Amino acid sequence: MSIINHKFDAETTPVYFSLALKRSYDVYIVYFLLFMVCIACFGYPLNALPVTVWLAVSLLARHFMNRIFIRWNFLFYVVISAGWISYFIYYYGWNCGGTNFILPLMLISMFSLYDTTFNKIAFAVFLFILRMALFFHCQSHPPVYILTKPHMLILQIVNTILSFVIMGMICMTFSANLQKTEKHLLLYNMELRQQAGTDPLTSLYNRRRMEEILENHIKANPNENFSIAIGDIDFFKKVNDTYGHNCGDQVLKSLSNLFKEKTLGMGHVCRWGGEEFLFFFPGINLDHASSIMSEINIAVSKSVITYKDLTLHVTMTFGVEENDFHSNISEMVKRADDKLYYGKTHGRDTVIS
Ligand code: GH3
Ligand code: MG
Ligand code: MG
Repeated sequence: MSIINHKFDAETTPVYFSLALKRSYDVYIVYFLLFMVCIACFGYPLNALPVTVWLAVSLLARHFMNRIFIRWNFLFYVVISAGWISYFIYYYGWNCGGTNFILPLMLISMFSLYDTTFNKIAFAVFLFILRMALFFHCQSHPPVYILTKPHMLILQIVNTILSFVIMGMICMTFSANLQKTEKHLLLYNMELRQQAGTDPLTSLYNRRRMEEILENHIKANPNENFSIAIGDIDFFKKVNDTYGHNCGDQVLKSLSNLFKEKTLGMGHVCRWGGEEFLFFFPGINLDHASSIMSEINIAVSKSVITYKDLTLHVTMTFGVEENDFHSNISEMVKRADDKLYYGKTHGRDTVIS
């Protein structure tokens, strides 16, 4: 299945942002429940009441998430989270670990795609000011509820663990998004590369890709011998003129399949242009390449090409050339082409090496 039309990145990334928000809400909901239980068990059942308000608001915000704009969702999240941090520190003091929740808040804001860098920095400054304001408040005011040391310790541990869980979830959600996007881009790139190097009619490599293959091979194996061959269908114009262009296309496709089969494991073949094909045989000398091309030439002339009710036969002429370790690719192709031309003027249906 083609992934070219697959929509991703810009359109799916916001999904991950709301997913991170949803997961954070889930942790907050569990946390508020835990907190209610802890405080009630500590012997302050009335103090558990305000947290029910946060629990209810979080449940509502979580429930209506999909129905409102993501910016509003984020704003609600900030209000709930920053509100809780302020309430918590104001009532229970600095040492109960409420400040831990500032970090996940900052983290999620940094992943917000909707905001400019300026807004993100402004939000970070706001969180900093909030933290400092709470700190200075705690310096001069004792907490409203004075907890015992072990209770404070328990709250500190619960707050630290849950704020870490929220941060972990946010990071995991976004890293999963990045990995998925990267994988899509990689596949997309591979498909584009494949398409850019393939001839759409015959599915053979196109000229550009073959030139790339040749250049890369020569670069990687400068001392290795290799051969090339160029082939051209004889009187192909006649096929088109007599049976139509579609029939000509069918001939090109059938011959391409034959070439793929015959060169398998020995070399590469491409559609060089029109009704011309270029063969590349790495590590193969002129004699060997000529015998391969003679076999291909015989196979072409023997092959029966069918198109609708028609059966037709074609022949080809080939020019084979060996690497001389001096010439570049176009000079080699030119020499092979000269041999092909010689074959064309000396009866066609032949291999000249
Ligand atoms: P020769 O033996 O000298 O090569 O004769 P020829 O008729 O094969 O050569 P010529 O250069 O006169 O004609 C080549 C023809 O190939 C003309 C062109 O329409 C046809 N051709 C090129 N590309 C395609 C294609 O993609 N599909 C079809 N059907 N025909 C094509
Ligand atoms: Mg031609
Ligand atoms: Mg031709």
